[in-house]
Amino acid sequence: MSIQENYNTIKNQLPENVELVAVSKTHPVSAIQEVYDLGQRVFGENKVQEVMEKYPLLPKDIQWHLIGHLQTNKVKYIAEFVDTIQSVDSEKLILEINKEAAKYERKIKVLLQVKIAEEESKFGLEIEEAKALFQNYINGAYSNIEITGLMGMATFTDNELQIRKEFSVLKNLFDELSKQKPLETLSMGMSDDFPVAIECGANSVRVGSAIFGRRDYTK
Ligand SMILES: *Cc1c(COP(=O)(O)O)cnc(C)c1O
Repeated sequence: MSIQENYNTIKNQLPENVELVAVSKTHPVSAIQEVYDLGQRVFGENKVQEVMEKYPLLPKDIQWHLIGHLQTNKVKYIAEFVDTIQSVDSEKLILEINKEAAKYERKIKVLLQVKIAEEESKFGLEIEEAKALFQNYINGAYSNIEITGLMGMATFTDNELQIRKEFSVLKNLFDELSKQKPLETLSMGMSDDFPVAIECGANSVRVGSAIFGRRDYTK
């Protein structure tokens, strides 16, 4: 299927209230432009270097989301233009984003990435850490960021029950924190599991290969 057919197929499966982040990592600027021309404005990249290269070549009304693990020493390269950093997994990183955002007199939107998967390898905050950071935020500790929601990745497995369980953990945290201060975005679900994620309460999904095709890491 073409990118256009893929994109329309995905869009047709998303309820109106669910945001699509088109994950364009490893794909060329031409493919991103194609999806942009279909109306898409929110794109996700997981590497600082890659988004820095693509950003100047594409329309300026694209909202770039950083979705991959971010090293503190690289925040400065994206602070001027990134819309949302979805992969915030430490207080050190929050403080750095806050500092760099202040230099541009802006607020950067962030999502707290919470570890919900069983796999040891996945990055993310423990639930208690996420609660503590959110409390600091409410108390006014980070004036140049806006915590707009939570992000999580489920275990890579065929076991749908387990995936549901993990997504539900994040939804519960989302609801709990929202009582203190309303959150907007619950980002969970990728190409293989976004329908389940939406059933579990996601209102933002990060879809890459189902739009752009398989990623070729050998290039
Ligand atoms: C690559 C990636 C995605 C998209 O994965 P697909 O399976 O290609 O849809 C979503 N979220 C994160 C954090 C990613 O790194």
